[in-house]
Order: sequence, then structure tokens, then C-alpha cells
Amino acid sequence: MRVLVAGLQHETNTFASWPTGARAFEEGGVRRGAAVLEGRGADHQTAQLWRDLCARDGHEFTASLFTWAQPSGPIVQSVYEGFRDEILTALRSQGPFDVVLLFLHGAMVSTGCDDCEADLVGRAREVAGEAAVIGVELDPHCHLTPALVEAADAVILMKHYPHDDYLERGAELYELCLGKARGEVRPTSALFDCRMVGFYPTTQEPMASFVERFGEIERQPGVLSVSFAHGFPWGDTPDTGSRVLVITDGDAQLAARLSAQVGLEIYAARDALLPRFPGVEAALTEALEAPGLVVVADTADNAGGGAPGDNTSLLKAMLDRGIGSAALGAIWDPMAAGACADAGVGTRLKLRIGGKSGLASGQPLDVEATVRGVRERHDQAGLGTSRSHMGLSVWIAVDGIDVVLSSIRTQVFSPDAFTGLGLDLQDKKIVAVKSSQHFYGGFAPIAAKVIRAATPGAIQMDFASLPYVKKSDLSFYPRVDDPLA
Ligand SMILES: [Zn+2]
Repeated sequence: MRVLVAGLQHETNTFASWPTGARAFEEGGVRRGAAVLEGRGADHQTAQLWRDLCARDGHEFTASLFTWAQPSGPIVQSVYEGFRDEILTALRSQGPFDVVLLFLHGAMVSTGCDDCEADLVGRAREVAGEAAVIGVELDPHCHLTPALVEAADAVILMKHYPHDDYLERGAELYELCLGKARGEVRPTSALFDCRMVGFYPTTQEPMASFVERFGEIERQPGVLSVSFAHGFPWGDTPDTGSRVLVITDGDAQLAARLSAQVGLEIYAARDALLPRFPGVEAALTEALEAPGLVVVADTADNAGGGAPGDNTSLLKAMLDRGIGSAALGAIWDPMAAGACADAGVGTRLKLRIGGKSGLASGQPLDVEATVRGVRERHDQAGLGTSRSHMGLSVWIAVDGIDVVLSSIRTQVFSPDAFTGLGLDLQDKKIVAVKSSQHFYGGFAPIAAKVIRAATPGAIQMDFASLPYVKKSDLSFYPRVDDPLA
């Protein structure tokens, strides 16, 4: 068999101030040919996995483009089309291929297309032909549209949030698609629309048990895969929302019955699944009253959802309260980080930090800071065993609070975002992280308590109030109490 693999990933926050251009993808990484297989990003690791499985089974492996950009505004149309057409050209000029495996996100919006994944896969189908098997791996924060499910032979989503299972799902997709290419299975998909918009960390109940439930259903005869598309609330598209996808072996009725059954189970738990986070002041009070180290998540300024990552509201509240023994990171501010690096460790300087990118950034903060650490190419442990780049980063001390400033816009995944600069977290009372949920795997082991705070910023979890214009179904929970009634 001949197998082509490619990756093109972006989670588009359509409410973000800035469009996403070629530079944003260059910062994430644009890799072709052998370079695809060198590195420790989730995209490299997925390409390596598919290469290794092809080698094990004696299939011919070809890698096309792999690229991604940090979540941000809609992609400039010509940039999206350039990447899309590069993959299509590989498919055409190096083909024919028996199997095409695509590592996509599922919430990619360009300035001219609301459903880039369906556009890409639909065009790939035209080039590859009906006989080719096209498989797609997606992030659960996707707009899982009927058009995409129709265009692909199999779509499999990561089940975990944090998404530490991208390699398991990639291996499942490989087996399913090669199985179809050999004529051993006939993947048959059904989608169920839960009529919900939400946020579903799988480290807590009730979502943790649902993940177990998906596994139980997958062990039933004739069932090949169960996926739950959480949806990406901050991408305004006609199909934004939560859906269940079930793939069976040739049994359309079973797929439809099980997707509805699972979807209705999730729907029945919708009230318990709704996030209810304390505001900044309540979160800080709760943190100070709790014993041990408390991690406070700045959920609304999460770069991983397309927020700028330079909102200083939480830091200001902590400074106003005079909280010593605290750390906060990472504020995206290349200009301030550069000034601190130039000044050098030990220098005390006046600094204006954050608040630069737009309305969601709030106000900048003027502080007196002491530079405590500098690292030119800082990085942190990312999802699974991947690494996440932070660029030139500095540790500064501001009135008892240790603050990390980064030059690459990213959420905080793990404690080495701090400790990699020499900053010790052990004796801290509060460690504040700019992230919604991907921090959890790395920080839960060092935290006596984790509090997700409803902070000011771009990623608001008041889903009923999101200003949707394109979303076709406005009768969704929690905007409407019982939309399926
Ligand atoms: Zn995600």
C-alpha cells in the first residue's frame, strides 16, 4: 500500500482581533519532507508514529506538509490556500495513494471559508478518487461538520482534555484506514448533534466517566470508534457546537442508534457539565484560605484558545492584595522580555507589561521589576511527551510575585515554564497559569488545590452570551434550557 500523511492545524478564534498569516505558521513550524520527522511536537510525533507503523507493515510512506499555528484569528485566505494546495499537489504529483492520513484540528476558519477541513478533505477526495481511503485525526475542540464526516472515510477525535492521547488515536486511525484499504472493515459513520456549547475537561466528573463510557461502547461488537466533539465555542461558524460521532462496521442503523444514545446521555448531564468558575476576587480568597500550594488558572486569557495571553488583570489583583509568595505566567510580551534580557539578571528597572494586543488584553501594568532569570530559547513540556516553545523568556520579581514573560505566545502546560528559568515553585502559596485545562496534567501533581477562575479576557465561558452571527442554531444549551424538548 502507498500511504500519504500531512498535517495542517489551526484552532481559529473568530472573535480574536488579528488575522493569522504566514508568520504565525512559521512560528509554529512549517515542515516538509524529512523535516516532518525531526522534532518533538505533537505533529512530528504523529508523523513518526505513522511512519513506524508503515515500516512495521511494509507500506510505502510519504510525508507531505506538516504545519500549525497558535490559535488566533481567521487565516488569511491566500495563506490557507497555499498550504491546502501544497498538500493537494503532493497527492496529485506523487500519487496514486491507497491511504491518506491527515492530522488536522477541525476548527480552522479562513477569511474566505468557515469549514477549511471539509474544503481540504473534499478536494483531497477529488484528487485521490473514491477508491482511496482518507482518514482524519482531530482535536475535540472542532466543528465536526456533516460535510467533513461525509468527505472522509473515517474521522477519529482525541478523547482526553488535556489531549495527551493524540498518539493512541493516531494509531487507531491508521488501523481503521488500512483495514478499510484491505477490505476488512467498512467504516460507517453517524453524527448526533447535542445542541450544546460547552467546556468539558475530562479530568473531572461527569466527563471523566463519559470517556470510560466511550471505551465501553467501542468494545461492543460491530463498533469501530466513538468520538465526542466538544466543539470550539469561540469559533463562530454555522456548525459550532457539541456532537457525538460513532463509526460502526457497515451498520448505519447501529451507528445512528448509538450516537443518539451517547449524545442524549451527555445532554442529560448538561447542567452538571456547565462550568461555574469563581471570579478573580473569590478565586484568590479561596486560594488563600486553602492549605498548601494552590494553582489558579487564568482561563479567559488562554493563548491556546486564541486569547492574546497578555492580560494583566489577575496579576494586578494579586499585587493589589499584597500576595507575596506567588508566581504567575506566562504573560506574552516580547518587548518587555527583550528589555529585561538586555538589562541582565539582577537589574532593577521600571517596566510596562502586557495589555497591548487589544480590548481583551485589558490595561498594561507599570511596575518596578528585578530581573531574576533569562533564557534565550525557553521551552516547556507540552501535551504527552511533546515540547512547547516559549522563545526568549524572563523571570522577573514584582513585589513578591515572580512573573514569567515570554516572547512566543503560548499557554502554560507544565511547571518547567517556571522552573526552566530557575524559579522554584515549591514554597509558593499561589501559582497562576494562563491556561484553561492543558495545564492540569503537569500541575495537578504539585497542587494541593486547583481553581479555575473566571478572569477578564478573550475566552469567556458565559456561552449563552457569546455574540454568534454565523452559528445557524441559536437554540442551544445553555442559551436555551432544554433545546431538544
Ligand atoms: Zn483542544
